[in-house]
Amino acid sequence: MNIAILGPQGSGKSTQAKLLADFLGLPMLDVGDFLRSLAKEGSAVGKKIKAAMARGELVDENLVIHLLSSELAKDKYKMGVVIDGAARTLVQAKELVGSVDKVFYLDLPDDVAKDRLAKRGRFDDTKDVIEKRLANYHKEVGPVLDYFKSIGVLETIDAQGSVDEVFNSIKSRIAR
Ligand code: AMP
Repeated sequence: MNIAILGPQGSGKSTQAKLLADFLGLPMLDVGDFLRSLAKEGSAVGKKIKAAMARGELVDENLVIHLLSSELAKDKYKMGVVIDGAARTLVQAKELVGSVDKVFYLDLPDDVAKDRLAKRGRFDDTKDVIEKRLANYHKEVGPVLDYFKSIGVLETIDAQGSVDEVFNSIKSRIAR
């Protein structure tokens, strides 16, 4: 079973992805963490990733496809995976998760997202970068959501509730 969790930064998608992965006994792949760990390496690829992240821009979609494809080919993902943070572009959606069973979109108003992010304090969480990431996010994610909806795998979840409320709402839609 392959599940993807999408949502603006601050929507709690990493928390929910972890809960869901534990619940289903599947590994989780957090694309943001995965890219941040590569960004720490001094390699040319690492530098390219770090620069895009610091600007609040998506890392090159083809580079991400390449990196994720080799990661997902590993044995540990054989039974399935909960992917946190992909697909972010239409090209990624079509390339990477053609066999995705469910996509959960955690829906959250921007002002709530900004409040939550201001409290987080990650290196790429400066005010300007937050605003830019959210604006870019909505621009990019629209076609991705339309695509997942058209193939019948999209579930939109209200992410404004508590962690438990949001998780219960995800669980109730797993089997549908
Ligand atoms: P996140 O951890 O989801 O907040 O993502 C942090 C940053 O990682 C984003 O601003 C992007 O630069 C990069 N990123 C995360 N997921 C992707 C993806 N699927 N494709 C390209 N870049 C990504």
